[in-house]
This record gives sequence, structure tokens and C-alpha cells, in this order.
Amino acid sequence: MLPIERRNRIKALIKEKEHMKIAELSELLDVSEMTIHRDLKPLIDEGVVMKTFGGVTLAKDPPQAQIPDNACVICRRPISERLAYRIILKNNEIEMACCSHCGLMRHQQLDDQVMQALTHDFLKQTTINAVSAWYVMDTSLVVACCQPQVLSFESKEYADKFVKGFGGQVYPFNEAIIALDEKMRGGGCCHH
Ligand SMILES: [Zn+2]
Ligand SMILES: [Zn+2]
Repeated sequence: MLPIERRNRIKALIKEKEHMKIAELSELLDVSEMTIHRDLKPLIDEGVVMKTFGGVTLAKDPPQAQIPDNACVICRRPISERLAYRIILKNNEIEMACCSHCGLMRHQQLDDQVMQALTHDFLKQTTINAVSAWYVMDTSLVVACCQPQVLSFESKEYADKFVKGFGGQVYPFNEAIIALDEKMRGGGCCHH
């Protein structure tokens, strides 16, 4: 049996039985315990199995399963549809951010990999194109997502009306990214 076949066999055995002793594996596969230890190392490194006393156990939470699909790509907060910022990449993958704060930061990081970005109008809850949206910062209305808070609006008219009522500054997409960046550098951030 080739080493790669043996490793796959070990993986399959652990998946099936959930717990195996090194001695058992050694006997079943007719190789030394040293060899079993060597075969297990990459599986342990990958987080597929966990080492226990004298054996190995199937890892209940492989690393890739620990991040739920509905967590923000930047801050890992759960996504709520109301504030979500969706980035569609050129390779057709979709990244979700919890709000326009994280969305704009991620959008800037991904830069030309972005095919399209969508966010929501804060008042109307309609889906809008993030690049042509208007953003409000420094408003007095706090809706408990990431700080400094960024709210998105479909039109400048709505953003202006909102600012009249609650204060703040209105920015188009590009300026919002720059302003957010400056505010983050200025240390106005709480949890990033
Ligand atoms: Zn976030
Ligand atoms: Zn957020």
C-alpha cells in the first residue's frame, strides 16, 4: 500500500470509528506505530483529527467549519440582512459583510477582484448597488453594528434628508472609503 493510500485509509477509519488507538491502526495496516504517527501528523495539522492519549479522535469541528457561512468576512459578526453588504467576486464567490463599515473595508481590500457589490438602502431596505450608493457617517443615530458606523442610501436625496434629521456627513462611494480609512487610522474604532 502506498503511503498516500494508507493515509486515506487511516482517515476513513477514523471517520468511521471516530476514535482509534495508534496500536490498532498499526496492526490493521501492518506498519509500525512510528509510521502511523508520521501518517497522522498531516491529518492533525489539517485539523481533521485530534491527538488523544494513545490514539486519535475525529475532530468535531474542523477549522473550516468554525466560521459560520453567515458571519461577516471582516469582523465575524452574524449577518443581518437589513445591514448586509454583499461582494460578488470575479470568480463568482460571494463575500458577506455585516454592514457597510466592513463592506467598504473589504471592498477596498479586494479592489479589482470585485465584480459587483450590493448593499441595502437604510430607510427603504431595497437592494442597491454599493458603488453608486451614498454613505452617511458620524450620525447621531446608532444602530449597533461596527464603529465608526456607516449607513448606506440609494440616493443622495435620501442621505441628505437623513442627515438633516440625525446629523452626520454624506459621502459617495469612493469618498466614503477614504473617510472610513481615515477614521479607522484616527483610532475611532472599537472592536477591529
Ligand atoms: Zn463586520
Ligand atoms: Zn458591522
